[in-house]
Parts: sequence; C-alpha cells; structure tokens
Amino acid sequence: MLLAKLAATRSTCRAAAVGAVVVKDKQVLATGYNGPPAGAHHCTDMGYCYEGISRCDADQAYPSRSSHAEANAIAMAAKKGISVDGATIYATLEPCLSCLKLIIASGIKEIYFEVPLALRTDGQSFAKLALVNEGLVRMERIQLSTDTIAQAVAFLSNPTSLPRPEPAYMLED
Ligand SMILES: [Zn+2]
Ligand SMILES: [Zn+2]
Repeated sequence: MLLAKLAATRSTCRAAAVGAVVVKDKQVLATGYNGPPAGAHHCTDMGYCYEGISRCDADQAYPSRSSHAEANAIAMAAKKGISVDGATIYATLEPCLSCLKLIIASGIKEIYFEVPLALRTDGQSFAKLALVNEGLVRMERIQLSTDTIAQAVAFLSNPTSLPRPEPAYMLED
C-alpha cells in the first residue's frame, strides 16, 4: 500500500490522486496512477481538466479525461506483455464498477484498498457487491499501520542509503 501511495504522487489529474500497484509472489508487476492517456496534456499542467472545468470529476456532463489508476496499471502490464492472472492489486481508493470489472477480467483475485468510494448510485454499489458475492474477487479495506507510516516518513525525510539506524527495519505494508 505504501507503493500505491507513492504511485499516487505521480497522478496527472486534478481530481483526487489515486495510485495502484499489482503484485504477485511478492513481486511488483505493474503500477498505475490516474491521469489522461500517455501523451495527452496533463490536467495538472494545464491547471484544469477541461477549459472552464477545474477537475475531471467536477461536472457529470463531461466524461473524465483520465483513466483510473487500476486501469492504467493493468494497461501497463498489457503493454509490457505481463500476465496479472492470479495477482493482487493495492489501490489507494476503492475501485469503481468499471475498474472492478476490468480487475476481474484481467484475472486479479484480490483487492486491497485504503479509502472507500462514495458511490454515486445505489445501482453501482449493488452491481459491485453482486460481483464480489459471486466469489470472483476478494476485496478488503486496509490501512498502513502508524509504525509503517513513521518508518516511511523517516525513510523519505533522510538520505535513504546511509547505514541504517539500529534497530534495522524493513517496511512490509
Ligand atoms: Zn483531469
Ligand atoms: Zn475506476
């Protein structure tokens, strides 16, 4: 989840920053963050998502320019020819219905997310729950422990590759 949070710092959309990491057998297969397709103008550079619309999620009349972090992580794996079948995805936000369907279709079996999604319609949450209840994918909310956060802050605030202070620790979340 720590890596997913770091991936979110790369978000190029002015809507909430979201990051995702796909992991299998303790190896990172792909990472993603939300933003317009590669090569398109970054919303963060332009200062708006569409002219006159400050954020991709500000006006329901306009479809978002951005792909979601989970979709981008799966697309990155596809682009590189990496199978995510049987993998786990960590995301900083609960997947939306579209991403949930994509996650299931790609063969990812487990989802860990940090922040629950405020769903716009009951229909969406019903559809998501139905997919989860069918046993297609396991979904669980998790949060970094305060210990991990403290250690991560220490890592980020100091030059990383100096001799470790005692006791040496490893971030596992
Ligand atoms: Zn945007
Ligand atoms: Zn999504």
